[in-house]
Amino acid sequence: MTRDSSREHGGCAPSAPSGRLPRTEDSAGLVIGVLAAQGDFAAHARTLRSLGATPVEVRTPDELDDLDGLVIPGGESTTISKAIERDGLEPAIRAHAERGRPVLGTCAGMIVLDGDHLGLMDTVARRNAFGRQRHSFELDLEVEGLGPDPLRAVFIRAPWIERHGPEVEVLASCDGHPVVVRQGQFLASAFHPELTDDSRLHALFMAMATAARERTERVG
Ligand code: GLN
Repeated sequence: MTRDSSREHGGCAPSAPSGRLPRTEDSAGLVIGVLAAQGDFAAHARTLRSLGATPVEVRTPDELDDLDGLVIPGGESTTISKAIERDGLEPAIRAHAERGRPVLGTCAGMIVLDGDHLGLMDTVARRNAFGRQRHSFELDLEVEGLGPDPLRAVFIRAPWIERHGPEVEVLASCDGHPVVVRQGQFLASAFHPELTDDSRLHALFMAMATAARERTERVG
C-alpha cells in the first residue's frame, strides 16, 4: 500500500450532520448529458443509466437542448476548457444553466465550473491541490445529504476549493478544504464518483434534475 492510498485524511468530514438520502424513484425518464470532450464520460453514463436516467453524450451545442442535467466529467481541465471553446459549447451550457437545469462537475469538471473558467459557481478551485505525494488516493468521506454512511471517494490529481462565496454550501471537506460543494443547481466534487459502485452523488444530482424539471412543468 502506498502512502497515497492510506487513511491519512482523518480530517475529512462533512461540514454539518448528514441529512436524508436523495430519492431516485421520481427520476425515471431523466435525460442527462455527459460532456464527452475528454475524460471518463462513459463511466458517468453507466452510473446514470443504472439509476434509471437516459445518458446522452454531448459533443455539439444542439445536443445540449432539452437536457434535464449536464455532467462535466474529470479529465484535464485545460483540455476540456479548450474543447468547450473549440466546439462552441459555452453559449449552450449557459443556456442550459439559464433554464435552471443542474450541472454536476467532477474533478476537472469542478475546475471548469469555477470563477476562472465558466464562472457558473462562485468558487475558485486549486488544481492538483493535494500535491505530488498524494496525487492519487482513496478515502471514506462523509457527505452532507448522502446519509450517515461514508462515500468511498477516489481522488486523482484532485483539486480542492480554495475560495468560495457565501452562496456556496460545503457538503464535505478534506483537510479543511471543501471537496464537495453545491450552489443552487450546481454541484461539484473533487473526486471521481463514477469510479465506484456507490452512486449516491449521482442520485443527489438526479434528484436536483427532477426538482428542476418539476419546477419548469409547474411554470410552463
Ligand atoms: N488535475 C486535473 C486538472 O487539473 C484534474 C484531474 C482529474 O480530473 N482527475 O485538470
